[in-house]
Amino acid sequence: MTVINSIADRADEHRGWRHELHMHPEIGYEEEWTSAFIATRLAEFGIEVHRGMGKTGVVGVLRGRGDGTRAIGLRADIDALPMQELNEFDHASQNPGRMHACGHDGHTTMLLGAAQYLAETRNFDGTVYFIFQPAEEGGAGGKAMIDDGLFTQFEMETVWGLHNWPAMPAGEAGIHSGVCMANADSFEITVTGRGGHAAMPHLTVDPIPCGAAIVQSLQTIVSRRVSPVDSAVVSVTIFQAGSAKNVIPDDVRIGGTARCFRKETRKLLEDSIREISESTAALYGCEIDFEWHAGYPATVNHAAEAERAAQVMETVIGEDNVDRDVEPSLGGEDFAYMLEEKPGAYIWIGSGPAPAEGMLHGARYDFNDEVLPVGATYWAKLVESELPR
Ligand SMILES: [Zn+2]
Ligand SMILES: [Zn+2]
Repeated sequence: MTVINSIADRADEHRGWRHELHMHPEIGYEEEWTSAFIATRLAEFGIEVHRGMGKTGVVGVLRGRGDGTRAIGLRADIDALPMQELNEFDHASQNPGRMHACGHDGHTTMLLGAAQYLAETRNFDGTVYFIFQPAEEGGAGGKAMIDDGLFTQFEMETVWGLHNWPAMPAGEAGIHSGVCMANADSFEITVTGRGGHAAMPHLTVDPIPCGAAIVQSLQTIVSRRVSPVDSAVVSVTIFQAGSAKNVIPDDVRIGGTARCFRKETRKLLEDSIREISESTAALYGCEIDFEWHAGYPATVNHAAEAERAAQVMETVIGEDNVDRDVEPSLGGEDFAYMLEEKPGAYIWIGSGPAPAEGMLHGARYDFNDEVLPVGATYWAKLVESELPR
């Protein structure tokens, strides 16, 4: 491990920031405390600060030595999740129903750590934009920043992201030359029949058997319609109906998520879910209302940038510890929007081992502080290598 000394020397300070962020989790577009914390740190380092992009996003601007006009962007996500933390340590969440269960407190800290080092050393030629993005967890904060002028107000050639990965041991990293995270869309189906007395089903149109049949039939999409060498998932996660044991309800609400890597498969999933729901409803004499919510597109790395990111990471954690052939994930990631606009790469930094209940989005998750200097060093070296003097 070759962590930059002056970053390693600040391990206590960085851990302090991370714990403070962990104690004050805020969900998408509510990151007021968090963005103030970030802006204060950046200003302390002497970095120019722009607030309010994408509502609660923050951009720091740092120019290196020399008069180079090249520029790159480094992105960290800053939001937490709407869930109750079950950890009981001192830095556990102080905001009920809010938790940093995805490690964005760690991502924010690592980028701040790099900003602090780079502001002191400025051993690069060009401009670095530190992009602190809100609302990664479903709110498309990355897109909100782009729509607000991220790439027009701040011209940059490339953009770079990372995520901690508890399934991979600390000291290792994984990167993909192409697709790394999935399209993540969702659907909502309301099945409407005609309710009535449970003892007189013949006088009703019962939506429950119809809803159950829809759920069963949706299971055949991935097994029978998607190519066996392709990857996709359709998960029904909501099935709500009824309020009394002796009443057949009027309707059933079904919801879930559909994910895959390829555009063609994305279309196939949407068409199949709609068609199966409609035809099954017709079979049972029910009506349906079908809503499709397009979520994040697939996150696709640019091969040349992914290779350069891998080489930089190798200088931090060693050649044998960067896996260029790691399996992609069917999770979603809104850094996808930035990679649709600019070349760049997104790397997974191992942060395990983690217990089963301490994986990403688990109520006992906590970012592994050992990874802080690794991530901060990666960012710093990436800047020095992409914008050499
Ligand atoms: Zn997450
Ligand atoms: Zn995350």
